[in-house]
Amino acid sequence: MEDCIFCKIAAGEIPADKVYEDDHVVAFRDLNPQAPTHVLVIPKRHIATLNDLTADDEAEVGRMVGAASTIAADAGFAEAGYRTVMNCNADGGQTVFHIHLHLLGGRAMAWPPG
Ligand code: 5GP
Ligand code: ZN
Repeated sequence: MEDCIFCKIAAGEIPADKVYEDDHVVAFRDLNPQAPTHVLVIPKRHIATLNDLTADDEAEVGRMVGAASTIAADAGFAEAGYRTVMNCNADGGQTVFHIHLHLLGGRAMAWPPG
C-alpha cells in the first residue's frame, strides 16, 4: 500500500534492522525500544488493523506468532519469558496502521499495561 511505512520496510524500500524474514512475514527492531529486545513482526501483505482481518489472514497471523516464538528462542529469553502485544486503533495505542506484533523481552514485564 502506498505511503505505508511498514509496507516500505517489508519491500526493502526504507531501511530497518531486520532480524527475521520469510515469504510471508518480516521482523525488525523497533526504532524506540521499550525493552532490551523490542522487535516488530509484520505480515508482508498490508492489513491496516486487527479489525480488518479476514479468514484469509489467519495463516498470516499464525506465522507472525510463530516468528515471534522463534525470535525469542534465538534471542535466548524464551524460557525466562517475554511479552507479545498487538495494539488496535486509538484506545489500543496503535500508531502505525499496518498490523504488527510487538515482541518485548530481556526484562521482567509489569501487568497491567498502562
Ligand atoms: P503501535 O503504537 O502502532 O503499536 O507501534 C508502532 C511502533 O512502530 C512503535 O513502537 C514505533 O516506535 C515503531 N515505529 C514507528 N515507525 C518506525 C520505523 O520507521 N521503523 C521502526 N523500526 N519502527 C518504527
Ligand atoms: Zn502496509
